[in-house]
Amino acid sequence: MSIHDEFSFINSITPKESKHQHLITGIGDDAALYSGDSEVEEIIGMDTMVEGVHFTRNTMKPFHIGYKALASNISDIAAMGGEPTFYLVSLAIPTTWDEADLLEIYKGMRTIADRYNMDLIGGDTVSTQHSLVITITVLGRIKKGRRLLRQNAKPNDIVFVTGNIGDSSVGLKLLLEHGCDYNFTSDEAYLVKRHQLPEPRIEIGRILNKYSRVSLNDVSDGIASELNEIAIASSVTLEIDANRLPRSESFSIYNQEDKKHWLLYGGEDYELVGTVAPEVWYEVKAECIRNNYKITNIGYVKEGEPKVLLKEGNKTTVLQRQGYNHFRKNIL
Ligand code: ADP
Ligand code: MG
Repeated sequence: MSIHDEFSFINSITPKESKHQHLITGIGDDAALYSGDSEVEEIIGMDTMVEGVHFTRNTMKPFHIGYKALASNISDIAAMGGEPTFYLVSLAIPTTWDEADLLEIYKGMRTIADRYNMDLIGGDTVSTQHSLVITITVLGRIKKGRRLLRQNAKPNDIVFVTGNIGDSSVGLKLLLEHGCDYNFTSDEAYLVKRHQLPEPRIEIGRILNKYSRVSLNDVSDGIASELNEIAIASSVTLEIDANRLPRSESFSIYNQEDKKHWLLYGGEDYELVGTVAPEVWYEVKAECIRNNYKITNIGYVKEGEPKVLLKEGNKTTVLQRQGYNHFRKNIL
């Protein structure tokens, strides 16, 4: 492995203080330990990023890699309506990576962890032959009874999505064409940033969890995939309108076909997509706007087979699940 001394490496990534009083022991013992609380439910999730599959060094600096790996985990907590608390990091390190770059990865993670008040409480370090593999386990909490599950959609609900979708895919396309050191225009730089430094929507999850029956998912694989997951979990049909899908202004220069593909199948935007009862939709929307978060009504829920319908003008088709598949991405 490319780390000279594992002990000093772990030492240099160990936080000096913790942000949570319920943490008893973080890094340094055999396992981390924190105290429970009868008022909350614990949320736990895990995501892995593999060099050459989920990122390459041509499109992401080590700082971005760390930031984004933790952002995608935080996004899963947002999609449950929760608050992130702790994270653990497992690194499988090939000889092609040096310690300074690994420390940059931790700096990226620490940057977003500080923003969401999270503590690094443990991990594991091993060596490997070929690519860097980063696995993050994230923990979070939500007040009892507030969790937002995919199974909550009911006929007549409004289908919504936050922010704009497809940005991250265009950002990736630009990075694959030019590499991450290119001098991008400000429009392009915005899209590139959406790919490299995505913002998980914890704050919007916090707004939504005040309502009793919200279904929610985060956009990691593209909305075609995420909406189908909600339709299946809730046993309902969702109908969305292609023209209403929220997109960035810088999208306008691309052709119709590409735009449609990015909007429906583009992954890694880490926006939230879900459903709310029609009676509370205007209240939810008003509260999001008050807090400067964009949220768009893109369709509605109806009774029927678990499926997603896509309306384009007066044509309606079934929107297949085909999502964003890293293994089909030709970036190796
Ligand atoms: P053990 O032999 O008990 O598995 P390790 O030497 O693997 O202990 O780890 C020592 C401490 O450092 C543990 O608290 C562990 O959680 C933490 N740790 C190890 N590797 C990492 C890492 N890559 N990132 C964060 N914490 C780590
Ligand atoms: Mg270990």
